[in-house]
Amino acid sequence: MEYVATLAFARERDQQDPLHKFRDQFYFPQRNGKDAIYLCGNSLGLQPKNVKGAIEQELADWQQCAVEGYWKAKNPWLYYQQYCSKPLMGLFGASQQELTVMNTLTVNLHLMMLSFYRPNKQRFKVLMEAGAFPSDQYVVETQVKLFGFDPESAVIEVSPRPGESLIRLEDILEIINRESDSLALVLFGGINYYTGQFFDIPAITVAAHKAGAYAGFDLAHVAGNIPVELHNWDVDFAVWCSYKYLNGGPGAVGGAFVHEKHASNRAFLRLGGWWGNEESARFKMEKGFVPKKEAEGWQQSTAQVFNMVSLKASLELFEAAGIGALRSKSIGMTDYLAFLLQQLKGINFQIITPENCNERGAQLSLLFMNSGKEIHQRMTDAGIIVDWREPGVIRVSPAPLYNSYQDVFHFYEIIANIASNA
Ligand SMILES: *Cc1c(COP(=O)(O)O)cnc(C)c1O
Repeated sequence: MEYVATLAFARERDQQDPLHKFRDQFYFPQRNGKDAIYLCGNSLGLQPKNVKGAIEQELADWQQCAVEGYWKAKNPWLYYQQYCSKPLMGLFGASQQELTVMNTLTVNLHLMMLSFYRPNKQRFKVLMEAGAFPSDQYVVETQVKLFGFDPESAVIEVSPRPGESLIRLEDILEIINRESDSLALVLFGGINYYTGQFFDIPAITVAAHKAGAYAGFDLAHVAGNIPVELHNWDVDFAVWCSYKYLNGGPGAVGGAFVHEKHASNRAFLRLGGWWGNEESARFKMEKGFVPKKEAEGWQQSTAQVFNMVSLKASLELFEAAGIGALRSKSIGMTDYLAFLLQQLKGINFQIITPENCNERGAQLSLLFMNSGKEIHQRMTDAGIIVDWREPGVIRVSPAPLYNSYQDVFHFYEIIANIASNA
């Protein structure tokens, strides 16, 4: 595709975009009396307009049915997580039995580690990417300590080579191979939140298994951004949050994937709760935890209806749009953004996200050597919402459900303006 740095070109692309109509299904924050240029769906997705009605439905059912809402509500609450896990199948390449929504991301990561990190004197190390999201680092550090190991020796981080921003796959595979006697778990982000690098999940999984370790992934920045094939790639477990690209709203319920080969095995250890127990026995109130033979076997508490309802509503839009079409549009918009940024002169930054669209999702990370924070402030004043991440990155993410080529172009115009006045 030949790109052109004009508004007319961006408009033309939007006119040809079969998903353009979905933009009207979202509320945009207002800046300077008009819609903000919102390129921050990697941090918090916009509110879909159907959320309000969906919440009102549950309020009405609670009002009118009270406890009977568990089975008499329009969407019986007993099975609420399944209204989300079904539409997630296509996004994650998993069966419904391998998916559930529950708790929040960091909590789910702890729960998964308690099942998949079972260290002994010989095998106790966890391999992760250097510069992982802090919450993930804290999870691993404290889990390792919980089992009596020292994070200094038990946590191995793969870093970019000196002078580079991205982690090379060959380096990841080499370390997995080298540590194969002592590695218990490989825990990687799907996409690194800072650089936007999308890691090779199948290759990492194959290497981890060859080394005798489990492979788990934090898909916070992948969920609703890049379709993945968790079952076929033989990933052991994955977790994610739902408030980024999935538009589930602040603090929305998190999600988890457990591969069928583990989920169907009742002997596979997990922390029990009545919502993870076989349904037929759940209300018998008997002794003895009998886990469901599926990812729901990791659930503990009663379904958090009001924490799931917005996600359920948002996922209806994903189903209507189709994740394949969303990904195609996303690649087009992000490529266009990269093209436009290359036209800029008089402003000193570098795109650290991989150039190859197969190694990134919707996000481009712009690394500023100096005055990045100031430039971020000027963007904000001009009606752009993007985020700043210490020590030097502005993250820009056109989300295909509601962003347009024109949003991308307006972002470019504003940053070009800042550059010419620098
Ligand atoms: C956003 C994000 C989190 C946030 O975790 P919560 O438990 O939802 O607060 C954790 N890890 C990664 C990689 C993230 O991108």
